Amino acid sequence: MAGVSLSDVKKRFGAAEVIHGVDLTVEDGEFVVFVGPSGCGKSTLLRMIAGLEDISGGEVRIGERVVNDVEASDRGTAMVFQTYALYPHMTVAQNMSFGLRMTGNDKADTEARVSRAAEVLQIEPLMDRRPKALSGGQRQRVAIGRAIVRDPSVFLFDEPLSNLDAELRVQMRVEIARLHGELGTTMIYVTHDQTEAMTLADRIVVLRAGRVEQVGRPLELYHDPANQFVAGFIGSPR
Ligand code: ADP
Ligand code: MG
Repeated sequence: MAGVSLSDVKKRFGAAEVIHGVDLTVEDGEFVVFVGPSGCGKSTLLRMIAGLEDISGGEVRIGERVVNDVEASDRGTAMVFQTYALYPHMTVAQNMSFGLRMTGNDKADTEARVSRAAEVLQIEPLMDRRPKALSGGQRQRVAIGRAIVRDPSVFLFDEPLSNLDAELRVQMRVEIARLHGELGTTMIYVTHDQTEAMTLADRIVVLRAGRVEQVGRPLELYHDPANQFVAGFIGSPR
């Protein structure tokens, strides 16, 4: 397990700077949620932590290690996306083991990890199915399983439940909270859903146009938003 810290992190796409110097420390084992309007930089920040996007300025640390120049596959992170991106021709078990096998992990260890993840996610009966025979919630469970088998020190979630209907969203939110309780792994989670943010987060980071607007525990932000903007996302109506 590991914490994550960002120090004056910047991102430019061509001439346009979209992340303007973000400072943030996520404690080891903490559940931190990023919220903010579309285009404010939530995904870009996650992708920089994951190593899917170059860092234009500043420093990203995972645990003690500065990871700016570390390959995505060596950062100990695992990302879960809004679209599940499962391989349609592979079974659930194959989808979950594929990444590990590709990186040379041995077969017995891979199988052990896959069955442990299947147990945690309660998808054991689905292991021989192909994605098209799964519901949306089941697919997202498999996508999370694929992240779990990598035994990451940090989970990164980018709006993982946005494609699910309301009922499933609630169910999966409870699952993710349980997962965090069980694994105790650091999680950084992007959402635009206020309920998800309020119920999952140890701390919420409100982003606005590439800057951190406020960071705090859910009830702190709810009762004491720094400004109208934060109130619009999290605060109690007044
Ligand atoms: P969010 O996830 O909060 O909706 P993003 O991180 O996707 O926001 O985007 C932040 C900003 O960076 C937006 O202005 C977006 O248009 C821009 N951006 C994101 N990815 C790219 C890219 N590959 N090339 C150019 N601009 C990008
Ligand atoms: Mg996004």
